[in-house]
Amino acid sequence: MIKVAIGIDVGGTNTVIGFVNNNGEILKEGSIKTSGHALFENYTSRISEKINELLADDFELIGIGIGAPNGNIHTGCIEHAPNLAWKGILPIVEHLQTTFDTKAKLTNDANAAALGEMLFGKAKDKKDFVVITLGTGLGSGIVSNGELVYGHDGMAGEIGHTTVFYDGRTCGCGRKGCLETYASATGIRTTVLEMLENSDKKSALREVPMASLESKHIYEAAIKNDEIALEAFEYTGRILGRKLADTVAHTSPEVFYFFGGLALAGDLIMLPTQRYFEEHLLKNYKGKIKMELSGLLSKNAAILGAAALIWNEDN
Ligand SMILES: [Zn+2]
Repeated sequence: MIKVAIGIDVGGTNTVIGFVNNNGEILKEGSIKTSGHALFENYTSRISEKINELLADDFELIGIGIGAPNGNIHTGCIEHAPNLAWKGILPIVEHLQTTFDTKAKLTNDANAAALGEMLFGKAKDKKDFVVITLGTGLGSGIVSNGELVYGHDGMAGEIGHTTVFYDGRTCGCGRKGCLETYASATGIRTTVLEMLENSDKKSALREVPMASLESKHIYEAAIKNDEIALEAFEYTGRILGRKLADTVAHTSPEVFYFFGGLALAGDLIMLPTQRYFEEHLLKNYKGKIKMELSGLLSKNAAILGAAALIWNEDN
């Protein structure tokens, strides 16, 4: 028998399910649509069906880890997730535990990513680090003294919703000026749209229809030295770098690891982030803190992270 933990990544569009061994190898993988289920119960039943389809005879299931937006480790519920169709408190852990008679654990996707980095990525020997995911929003998982920081209510590490401008852009959380409205794939897109509107500079990005403009277009323009695209990366890095310099004051991490779509832009985002970060750091911290791309960037980090919730206890 091969011991496996299931890692489930609940995304706004798709839910991906993978069977992961203790070396962080995904032995089997499948996905279902997250949207299109009228009731949350229909959705969880569909997950269970998919698990049964994928479950091989020689797998010994040791548990199920779930990474989901607003996933709460303490309650096992997804709580008021803005980008899911079902509202309120959604008890996903209870359903899976009962159905498969095994332990299940839930946390938010960025926390799961941090655990994945610690078990299967670059942070194997690290005790103090922060994982920043630059996707549609900005997620963060904070490891301090060798443990993931959950906080008293299970919702610690929402760096994406710390404020950079008190009268800034409206955020999905209902407040204004949150970091993620600037430093994310969505944020840099908004920055470019503002820059295009407020300047007459020539830019290849003017040729992209506004509705279909994505961060990858900005990346492609930037590597061809498009002035607006380069400015947008500089601006994004400035806001992100300065805010992360503040974050250092809380837990004094050794490394920041980045992943998510925008992190794939590599130096374009990392160099300005690092420069403004270093400039803005308190003197005691200067020159000591590394910024690196995640060791799981090319792998399915979300699945590995979710499975790490179980492997973290049972290895
Ligand atoms: Zn917010």
